[in-house]
Amino acid sequence: MIAQRVTLKTVRALRDQPITFISENPTTCESNDVIRDIVIIGSGPTGLGAALRLKELRHVFQNVHITILEKEDHSGGLSSSERDEKGFLWDIGGHVVFSHYEYFDNVLDIAVKEWNQRVRAAYAFMMGSDGVRRFIAYPVQNNIADMDDIDQSKCLHGLEQIGRNLSKITPSNFDEWLVQRFGEGLSDVFMRKYNRKIWTVETKSMNYIWVVIAFRFQTWKLLNLKFHR
Ligand SMILES: Cc1cc2nc3c(=O)[nH]c(=O)nc-3n(C[C@H](O)[C@H](O)[C@H](O)COP(=O)(O)OP(=O)(O)OC[C@H]3O[C@@H](n4cnc5c(N)ncnc54)[C@H](O)[C@@H]3O)c2cc1C
Repeated sequence: MIAQRVTLKTVRALRDQPITFISENPTTCESNDVIRDIVIIGSGPTGLGAALRLKELRHVFQNVHITILEKEDHSGGLSSSERDEKGFLWDIGGHVVFSHYEYFDNVLDIAVKEWNQRVRAAYAFMMGSDGVRRFIAYPVQNNIADMDDIDQSKCLHGLEQIGRNLSKITPSNFDEWLVQRFGEGLSDVFMRKYNRKIWTVETKSMNYIWVVIAFRFQTWKLLNLKFHR
């Protein structure tokens, strides 16, 4: 189906051009096929965001019919909430958002009318290598100084190692990506456990493509940490 292969990159490329689909796979789709319909599968944040963007680009997609298919009886995907019979509201997944982008903020205001604004105070409750549980301010990678001496050494040693020898190898999974970005120490002390808890699968079983966008973390900021110790 043509619509499934339409990416926003393609949309951008088409913005100032006639409404034609430039195939990313010429063996299954002739170039210059006219886009007639676009089908978005899923009405979570991604699907709704794509639909909104396509609507904003309607001067490009005149006469193109956009359909969103959703298997549940409500939109929102993992970022939706459910109210139980006692009136309690349960967030399925997404419930907190941080943004520095005006466009994104405006889109969120369209999606959800009422927001609670809070100053962030988030901590990870972690068992240190010394056997003591303590709250480490989040993001943990910025607060290594709050860890016990053993974990601090592990984390800083790992960061020194990756700082000395920045890897150019493409990671084959999320675990390798973590070690390349945060070092073996931070990966062992926090990153693996945290991500296994969040995503319920081992970090070695996940690919890493999504994190490149999700966590635009600059390694040099981490490497600076050792100077504050
Ligand atoms: C426990 C947890 C906590 C989270 N907390 C936060 C947070 O605080 N802040 C934050 O920003 N993010 C958070 N996230 C992440 C956030 O929920 C997701 O990044 C976001 O919901 C992803 O949006 P999406 O549209 O890509 O996918 P989804 O939200 O998964 O939506 C996909 C949609 O597609 C539909 N669908 C799937 N298959 C089909 C099909 N074959 N046909 C039709 N419809 C289909 C699904 O029903 C769903 O509605 C959390 C995630 C989890 C699991």
